Amino acid sequence: MHKSISNLVSIQNELKSGSQQSLNPKIIAVSKTFPLEIIQPLIDHGHTHFGENKVQEAVDKWKSVKDKSSQIKLHMIGKLQTNKVKYVIPLFDYIHSLDNLKLAEKISKEQHKTNKFLKIFIQVNIGLESQKSGIEPNNLQDFYNKCVNDLKLNIIGLMCIPPQNDVETYFNEMQKLNNLLNLKELSMGMSADYMQAKKYGSSFVRIGSKIFGERS
Ligand SMILES: *Cc1c(COP(=O)(O)O)cnc(C)c1O
Repeated sequence: MHKSISNLVSIQNELKSGSQQSLNPKIIAVSKTFPLEIIQPLIDHGHTHFGENKVQEAVDKWKSVKDKSSQIKLHMIGKLQTNKVKYVIPLFDYIHSLDNLKLAEKISKEQHKTNKFLKIFIQVNIGLESQKSGIEPNNLQDFYNKCVNDLKLNIIGLMCIPPQNDVETYFNEMQKLNNLLNLKELSMGMSADYMQAKKYGSSFVRIGSKIFGERS
């Protein structure tokens, strides 16, 4: 069996064996920096959710794969510039990194042009870190209202990359924010902390190195 498949299967088993109070999160295999030859065994194994963080790399790698298989779901998880939105809408199924109003307006406009509507997460700067993107919790309700009421975006949940010192506190806060907004999905948890994320109701964990190995 290919290494990436056995890695995926053991993560799936670990998630299943954890606390049963919450649902099992779906695993997004974060394939950024890895070429398609490395990803292909997971596709052949039947895995469907994949994450990328660079638009051009994703177009090059995934365009023909997605043309052949409508099963594959692609998640944009990286910082998104407004001038790249026109390439994201046709290729991707989810955006996890909506973090400002200009971007929201651009996504809304492009979606109406192409009549394709993606599932979108609002990225939250849950640790109020200056080097990280995301809407601050205090501005979240207002930003959410604009996205939904004015721009008609399909906001399905919140996403975060928490500070590494105390992830459970931040995951807990994210779960509360998600509940306040009555959102169903929650995108949090990476290779180092997916079990903690599950504990606080994550519905999508984004896992790269623990599946594919360290990135160079
Ligand atoms: C790279 C990346 C991941 C995956 O990180 P690993 O630690 O390799 O699992 C998850 N989320 C985002 C936003 C990323 O950029």
